[in-house]
Amino acid sequence: MRTRNGHALITGCGIAGPVVAMALQRAGIESVIYEARSDAMDEAGAFLNLAPNGVNVLKTLGVDAQVQAAGFPCGGIAFWNGAGRRIGVMDNGPEERRYGAASLVIKRGLLHRVLREEALRRGIRVELGRALESFDSTADGVEARFKDGSTARGDFLLGCDGLRSRTRELLLPGAKGPEYTGLLGWGGFSRCAIPAPPGGLMQMTFGRRAFFGYCVAPSGEVYWFSNESQAEEPARGSLKPAIAGAWKERLLALHADDASPIPDIIRATEEASISCYPIHDIPFLPRWHQGRVCLVGDAAHATSPHVGQGASMAMEDALMLARCLRDTPEPEAAFARYQGLRKERVEKLTRQARRTGNTKGAPGPVGAWFRDRLLPLFLKRAAEANAWVYAYKVDWDGGTA
Ligand SMILES: Cc1cc2nc3c(=O)[nH]c(=O)nc-3n(C[C@H](O)[C@H](O)[C@H](O)COP(=O)(O)OP(=O)(O)OC[C@H]3O[C@@H](n4cnc5c(N)ncnc54)[C@H](O)[C@@H]3O)c2cc1C
Repeated sequence: MRTRNGHALITGCGIAGPVVAMALQRAGIESVIYEARSDAMDEAGAFLNLAPNGVNVLKTLGVDAQVQAAGFPCGGIAFWNGAGRRIGVMDNGPEERRYGAASLVIKRGLLHRVLREEALRRGIRVELGRALESFDSTADGVEARFKDGSTARGDFLLGCDGLRSRTRELLLPGAKGPEYTGLLGWGGFSRCAIPAPPGGLMQMTFGRRAFFGYCVAPSGEVYWFSNESQAEEPARGSLKPAIAGAWKERLLALHADDASPIPDIIRATEEASISCYPIHDIPFLPRWHQGRVCLVGDAAHATSPHVGQGASMAMEDALMLARCLRDTPEPEAAFARYQGLRKERVEKLTRQARRTGNTKGAPGPVGAWFRDRLLPLFLKRAAEANAWVYAYKVDWDGGTA
């Protein structure tokens, strides 16, 4: 269906896809979301932190309450060394008062589900099992072809198809794709009976051989992750345990010398809930758009998870792009405006996340001694230093000129 303001084809129903569709609807632009997965897979994947800047996007679109109901608040981070000594705290402080929204923790799959269901409730069509294969972009529209042989036509195409975006491959052949950052991520959910840390703080440990983080949901479920330095990127086919129980054994060995409750959390985790993901980012693309096609979220600029901003950046992108399309009806000019308003910020954050990730390797006894003493000083300034990230708001009612 084509409305007065145009019809968008959106590839990907992760985070950027449904958010941009809802924002476009506000701008009077109709869209259909084409998602590659044929089932919703809402239980898949890890958990993430949504920062105030991301929650503020959801507030603008009136989806914040639904997302907050599926997650729980995060008061900050307590840092520990592997010997079990607390070395510092990064308190989020009064985020609601400072930024108008507070951080929350949510399972990635649940966030996908809430956003998709809300888009559907608002009358946005979501078609599962429609993986983009190729597209033809002409002066007045785009035709997308999907793996199942079907096609769709629209005024423009938005690639919200994530880290391994097919839209990006087609749009920018030869551009450098995801870069492996030298860290292997592990994640899981556990029913280990440990008390919830006071203040809702996430607990992060510079373990002797690997970095470990966890938080406790109000239900008592423990959400955890581990980051292990590994110079060589593992082959994609090897990201399944060779024998049942092998991953748990590996993680228990990796954290064997770290203080309680880390080994207990791993031991109490069902092997099936453990996932392994080499950590990538996309630090720079020469451009995010061409003709009537534009990239959004991870497809344009994936960041590693170490500063908890990938999802929030995807949401900011989505709202800003919809605002540009509302104010500048010619798509190519709107895409250029959007890229101009967003690129510097997300590239700066991607570099910051990479630097943070680089501190997670095991530094040796001398490095650890200095880290334990310098980190508290750094954390004192961290809230101020991060204000540029959290205070960012897309002014929906303002103009983009
Ligand atoms: C382990 C982990 C931890 C993270 N922690 C955080 C955190 O704490 N805070 C944070 O803000 N971010 C975090 N992130 C990053 C965050 O998840 C991503 O930045 C965010 O999901 C990006 O949203 P997106 O919509 O661009 O991509 P995605 O959410 O990946 O969605 C892309 C969608 O496109 C679909 N798709 C793929 N190919 C096609 C195709 N050809 N045709 C149609 N559809 C297609 C996919 O199936 C998927 O549904 C983390 C990521 C990981 C992996």
